[in-house]
Amino acid sequence: MTFQTDLLTWFDQHAADLPWRQDKDAYRVWLSEVMLQQTQIETVKPYYTRFLAAYPTVHDLAAAPLADVLKLWEGLGYYSRARNLHQAARKVAQEMNGTFPQTAEGLLALPGIGRYTAGAIASIAFGERAPVLDGNVIRVFSRLLDLADDVTQPAVKERLWQQAADWLHLDRPGDYNQALMELGQVVCKPRQPLCAECPVQRHCRAFANGTQRERPVKKAKAPTPHYDVAAAMIWNDQGQLLIAQRPMEGLLGGLWEFPGGKQEPGETLTECLLRELDEELAIRVEVGELFTTVQHAFTHFRITLHAFTCRYVSGEPQKRGVQDWAWVRPDELERYSFGKADREVIRALRERRSMLF
Ligand code: SF4
Repeated sequence: MTFQTDLLTWFDQHAADLPWRQDKDAYRVWLSEVMLQQTQIETVKPYYTRFLAAYPTVHDLAAAPLADVLKLWEGLGYYSRARNLHQAARKVAQEMNGTFPQTAEGLLALPGIGRYTAGAIASIAFGERAPVLDGNVIRVFSRLLDLADDVTQPAVKERLWQQAADWLHLDRPGDYNQALMELGQVVCKPRQPLCAECPVQRHCRAFANGTQRERPVKKAKAPTPHYDVAAAMIWNDQGQLLIAQRPMEGLLGGLWEFPGGKQEPGETLTECLLRELDEELAIRVEVGELFTTVQHAFTHFRITLHAFTCRYVSGEPQKRGVQDWAWVRPDELERYSFGKADREVIRALRERRSMLF
């Protein structure tokens, strides 16, 4: 039997029962593939179910306000995905009569859809003979081929794309692609590949050579940078807090936060806050005690968020570097979408004040 047949036989018997596998409707496949980018399956499951309940069709998603979509996405991370999803839904609903493009090439024209996602949707939903290559597939291929080249190099990656196209199962491309990814997730795992139970072991050169733990080869990563970030919990005399919405473009775009920013060299955290609040909102505050600190990791850097209790002094807030701002009571914070680090600050506030909100 060929590698493809062995793989599909295994998949037919062992495929995981996942909510997005119940239907090959393009909207559902698209939603699941976008949610699964950089995110664990178990994390995605409840979000997928909630999202589909709120927006059962692409028209429902297109008609929803972006703020509601971001709120539903809260905690899933990589928020540009939610903004792109919303934009793409509008494009499909308004310019394509609600019908998704049926080829990988056509799908690439939608916001937030790259080469991998386009191949996955086209092959799973429409049966197109389109290959996929994600981190799982790269790992599996580099082991099957016992590849000693650095897979982070663009030329090597391009060769692997070609390999993915050459090895594609022509009759069942969607199942084959899913099988390959699932093999990487549950059997050919990054640190401990379960070679003894692997359905394609006899096709694997790395297994034969005993090099499977040395594959894939990746050049050593530079250490992750770390930044100190100051955030202000600014109270006014009415017991309200000032929150700001981040610009729509960029990191955590469109989410709300306690205003502040990154500490510059030679600056104290208090100086950093006073500068940021002047630059972004044109207000003056009195910086009080450190309220809490939160550690948070993004994909390419880590931060320590230092949240300070502040008293509002003067200046009508301006939208200099923010999308919007609002004075809110603590019990109203739940209505807004925040990133994970700011959510931790809110949790600390709730605990500290024993407030029922
Ligand atoms: Fe991966 Fe081991 Fe299977 Fe090779 S034999 S594909 S290394 S799990």
